[in-house]
Amino acid sequence: MEYIISACLCGINCKYSGKNNFNEKAAQLFNKGLALPICPEVFGGLSTPRASAEIVNGDGMDVLKGIAKVISKDGIDCTEAFIKGAEKTVEIAKKLNIQKAILKANSPSCGYGQIYDGSFSGQKRKGNGVTAQLLLRNDIEVYNELYKIY
Ligand code: SF4
Repeated sequence: MEYIISACLCGINCKYSGKNNFNEKAAQLFNKGLALPICPEVFGGLSTPRASAEIVNGDGMDVLKGIAKVISKDGIDCTEAFIKGAEKTVEIAKKLNIQKAILKANSPSCGYGQIYDGSFSGQKRKGNGVTAQLLLRNDIEVYNELYKIY
């Protein structure tokens, strides 16, 4: 197994809306047995469907430092679930000795390089999601589906 991959990219309906973010190339990796689908938000105990959530006043690094929170659109603090999901994802990657992750762009969990800015207006800011950040901290390479690496 070469990659951890966001499950929603493989067509699995784990997105907050109960739908997915199907991506042809991601699904091919999954179908060839090269990528293990994970969904950190589900790992963290959140249900599907669920209210969308964004990191408020920071990025994934700030969440892990304890200085920013993940808040759902209906005002619930989901920070603990996001951290738990990130930890579970790293645990699995380490157990299987997986060194690379392809994650869904812009997500507060999976986003790499850019995430939604916490205003629920579709605006983005620089930064990584909580899981992307924790994977990087554990020396796992992170890409998103927009990179041409596979
Ligand atoms: Fe997809 Fe990641 Fe969101 Fe799960 S947490 S639905 S894998 S972007």
